[in-house]
Amino acid sequence: MSKYKPTIGMEVHVELITNSKMFCGCKNGMGLETNPNTNICPVCTGQPGAISVPNAQAIEFTVQAGLALNCHIARDSKFDRKNYFYPDLPKGYQISQFDQPICANGFLEFTLKSDDGSVTGTERVGITRIHLEEDTGKLIHEGKDTLVDFNRACVPLMELVTEPDINSAQEAKRFCEDLRLLFRYLGISTADMEKGQMRCEANISLHEVGKDRLSGTKVELKNLNSFRAVERGIEYEIERQTEVLDSGGTVYQETRGWDEKKGRTFLQRNKEDAHDYRYFPEPDIAPFKLGEAYVNLLREKLPELPTEKRNRFVKQFGLKLENASTLVANKEMAGYFENVTSELENWMSEEDHKFEEKDITTLYRLSANYILTELARKVADSEKGMSELKISAENFAELIKIVYEGEINSSAAQTVLEEMFLTGADPSHIVDEKGLAQKSDEVELGTIIGDILLVNPGPVEDYKNGKDNAIKFLVGQVMAATKGAANPQVVMQILKEKLK
Ligand SMILES: [Zn+2]
Repeated sequence: MSKYKPTIGMEVHVELITNSKMFCGCKNGMGLETNPNTNICPVCTGQPGAISVPNAQAIEFTVQAGLALNCHIARDSKFDRKNYFYPDLPKGYQISQFDQPICANGFLEFTLKSDDGSVTGTERVGITRIHLEEDTGKLIHEGKDTLVDFNRACVPLMELVTEPDINSAQEAKRFCEDLRLLFRYLGISTADMEKGQMRCEANISLHEVGKDRLSGTKVELKNLNSFRAVERGIEYEIERQTEVLDSGGTVYQETRGWDEKKGRTFLQRNKEDAHDYRYFPEPDIAPFKLGEAYVNLLREKLPELPTEKRNRFVKQFGLKLENASTLVANKEMAGYFENVTSELENWMSEEDHKFEEKDITTLYRLSANYILTELARKVADSEKGMSELKISAENFAELIKIVYEGEINSSAAQTVLEEMFLTGADPSHIVDEKGLAQKSDEVELGTIIGDILLVNPGPVEDYKNGKDNAIKFLVGQVMAATKGAANPQVVMQILKEKLK
């Protein structure tokens, strides 16, 4: 047991998918392949005298993110200049927000999971602030040369800073995963970490158990370009700092990078203080007000958020928290599940008998299981998204219905689903065409079993001599003879009777 405990805070940058860039009329080319320096203008390349005009849609997206993260939305806000020199920053300053961010004092509640994916609890991390700024250009290093591409310069960038509420690398990773999911539900960013649309940094310090949790020295960790990097990078940094402290050394306040290939962090630079940036109010953009009516309108436009949907799936459909949480993690899959359940509801309302609560729950859970296991696997293997799925929700519900009613057994269901996945065909047609309807007729199965016993005297003898496993071989023979359509329970029962 280590005598130190980590305190972790996150800083997350997200590119917003607005139509145009943050302060000019250029198209927001985020995620598009364009030739370098073709999507630029005098404003985003910092030409003298060019005037910046803020993007209303980007402000709207930021307010929505703030509302979804339970933040206080500022009544009065403004943009500021953050002055520094870097070759990818043509203006010599970045337009950002200093002391009046659009959002402050919120939180994100997310689920904690164990390695096998089961939900072990929930955690809440405070959001200190969310502000809006512009992205920089990109430097491309080629051999001895460095090239610069300004296509990304001035793309709207939202920065979110958390309270130091996180206590482990796993928690940090889960926080980032659920944060990305939230951005995707809001439709404000595709937040693809591999493409740099969402970039995470962690502030990590260690304190001795029993002492103030903020008493350690903070190290800033950059280059965390995937969820795995967030977890591994923080884990490494905790170990590194523990070793430094254990050997009587000093942890310095510095910025370190994560080297994914070498699996270690390395020193980048000593930390600048905020005043080094010489922030001052952006003179070209007037301070702005975010009125109550405007904020309320945006609040009404918020979609159902992942946490709400997850809780509703548990309540409305009786799903286990784990399954609800996995479904919700894929927005399209969650939508598909809901379409399947409404098809099942239609079917149940048309039936003569009334369904009991427990039967309805069984149907919903069966749907969720088939979607999360069989279907999800096929979708992943095909490397196509849910949007290209050929199986209509109506046909999927039909499959669930015939499995539920015992018309086909689970191995036949696999065959039917495979065919549905390839062709989109109606499951009942596939069952008829392939003769997959489950055979439960005792007379018919009795005849088939009689024949199997006659041609397999060896296993019959083994079973009678106490080798119980021999019966499994015989069941297998019956299943093969019926092309997998026999009802295994009925087969087992008849076999046992005949072998007495
Ligand atoms: Zn431009």
